[in-house]
Amino acid sequence: MNSLAKSWISISADSDFSIQNIPFGIIKHLKTQHISVSTRIGDTIVDLSVLADLGAFSSIKGFDKSTLTNLYLNDFIALGKTVTSAVRLEIIELFKESNKDINQKYTASFLQLKDVENLLPVKVGDYTDFYSSIDHATNIGTMIRDPKNALMPNWKYIPVGYHGRGSSICVSGHTFHRPKGQQKPADSEFPTFGPSKLLDFELETAYIVGKSTTLGESISTEKADDYIFGMVLFNDWSARDIQTWEYIPLGPFLSKNFASTISAWVVTLDALEPFRTKGYTQEPKVFPYLEYRGNKNIDIKLEVAIMPENSSETVICNSNYKYMYWTMEQQLAHHTINGCNVNIGDMMGSGTISGPEPHEYGSMMELSWKGTKPLKLNDGSERKFINDHDTVILRGYCQNENIRVGFGECKAKVLPAN
Ligand code: MN
Repeated sequence: MNSLAKSWISISADSDFSIQNIPFGIIKHLKTQHISVSTRIGDTIVDLSVLADLGAFSSIKGFDKSTLTNLYLNDFIALGKTVTSAVRLEIIELFKESNKDINQKYTASFLQLKDVENLLPVKVGDYTDFYSSIDHATNIGTMIRDPKNALMPNWKYIPVGYHGRGSSICVSGHTFHRPKGQQKPADSEFPTFGPSKLLDFELETAYIVGKSTTLGESISTEKADDYIFGMVLFNDWSARDIQTWEYIPLGPFLSKNFASTISAWVVTLDALEPFRTKGYTQEPKVFPYLEYRGNKNIDIKLEVAIMPENSSETVICNSNYKYMYWTMEQQLAHHTINGCNVNIGDMMGSGTISGPEPHEYGSMMELSWKGTKPLKLNDGSERKFINDHDTVILRGYCQNENIRVGFGECKAKVLPAN
């Protein structure tokens, strides 16, 4: 593909949805309730089922039009990367500037943002969350344990993770009620029960598994990219007070499964490939099954904003996916080294992505240093954690001198406890 290709669809220079992106999502037409696999180019939604009806994709071997009117992307993803990558490349061809005159009939597939609603793109089967940012793990270990031994002894050997819950994963734009639960304040002998007082976000990305394995099979770091369909932004909402009381010895439970937010468009690994960058030098040396070759980190600029009700937003964090210590390929190799099988639609969270500088910390826990350093918002109010009626917005994009590929927003609003 010519990375300088322009589109005949109008796209603003700062749009995440350039002609080089072509992410996949599920939209509902508000007027007709029709549901379809779609993409977004600039501010134009393109209904892939209409493109197919007009004759697109018919020369792609293995393509199946019936997958484009499903409620989730899973069956489309199951066609395999040779098909889905070819679909993406054909869309780029259809809408690149030089093909404007011959492809006018495809404007029948166009919809405006106001006429559609984005639905959850993937039916998530199993969901795993890792803990792979070294700055985040160091900050948390420093705060809650011991600054001299901030990282647990296993941390540089194992991409640490826990099994999360798929049922409460929601698409950007949703609201949820502040969770209630047990907490044990430090100054109290007994636990208390009530709404969480320490509600936090976690700035993460997640990848969607695009190819299944059978029980007993392992995925090598070398083959891992074949099993990763694409990525989304991910807010792993966390109730710190509930978490502190419940997490020993088996890890987070009710502190993280009340709601999790993902962005609506799955950006393919193909689209992210030009932004690959070098990973951490890993010392001590990792076990052979975790070794990998080449540039496997990705330069994805990330930010978090808080928007109080009836107010403007304040950006409180700028981080980058390139700060990950463990790569997606290592996570997947580790996840399956024992023979654990993965399925199409499984979701793997990165873990909170913090950078080395204080403005790069990916959670309120770190930004406010456990509530000891409140953040000032543009409207003059202060935050140690997230208040009722606050909207938290994650954004992420890759940019080089020629192209921009981004995720749009991953946004949710907190309502008072029920
Ligand atoms: Mn997390």
